[in-house]
Amino acid sequence: MNVYSFKDIAVLTGAGISTESSIASFRGQNGLWKNYRPEELATPQAFAKNPELVWEWYALRINTVLKAKPNKAHYLLADLEKTRKLTIASQNVDQLHQRAGSKNVLELHGNISHSRCLQCANLDKLKIDFKHPPKCSKCNENTRPNVVWFGESLPQNTFQKAIQAFQNCDLAMVIGTSGVVEPAASLANLAKSKGAFVLEINPELTPISQIANLSIRDIASTGLDNLINN
Ligand code: NAD
Ligand code: ZN
Repeated sequence: MNVYSFKDIAVLTGAGISTESSIASFRGQNGLWKNYRPEELATPQAFAKNPELVWEWYALRINTVLKAKPNKAHYLLADLEKTRKLTIASQNVDQLHQRAGSKNVLELHGNISHSRCLQCANLDKLKIDFKHPPKCSKCNENTRPNVVWFGESLPQNTFQKAIQAFQNCDLAMVIGTSGVVEPAASLANLAKSKGAFVLEINPELTPISQIANLSIRDIASTGLDNLINN
């Protein structure tokens, strides 16, 4: 298959595309943090119970993310966007697509770069080693990480744009996501039902593999490189 024969590409990315930038995925991670699993910290319940603890964990994560660099897979997608219509819907919160130069990025799960005020919704950019829990720069009220937690709904406006991208594309790529958390499966299904070619890049078998026209069992960087440059 020749990626250049497609005019309108929609890409869904998950934590797997950033593991080569040394940002661990949740499910692939071995280590716990203070005996907590990520699924026990990235929830509204965890934050309501112990906001300091959740902020402490996010402070560590943002330090990792700010020190990380985009990898070849992020750059290849940014390059591809220069020559055709391409939308990235990312479940990642690390902003590595934007840092690689991608313009058309939909953040389905928000980002960890900012805090969001619980009172006025103002977003403040977080810096390395920021003081936590941070207060809003406008009204001095408490804030939360600007991410979508387990059990919360996606930002509707952003998700609607992702739906449009996947129903209009002629190629849907699903890269580095387990496909067990919605909306991965539904976006891939939507593209397929509208006649798009569905391509998956993941070293492991996932639920998306069942509907994909082609599954490339490789890591994101070499999988994309072979696809685009061969
Ligand atoms: P996930 O389970 O969807 O992602 C992991 C997937 O990536 C697995 O299917 C794995 O086989 C695949 N993978 C691993 N290495 C790969 C590689 N080099 N190339 C391609 N695929 C590879 O996601 P998760 O870790 O359970 O995360 C759940 C949610 O938590 C995310 O949707 C996100 O909101 C958040 N999260 C974000 C980041 C980030 O921003 N980098 C990291 C961890 C978690
Ligand atoms: Zn505020």
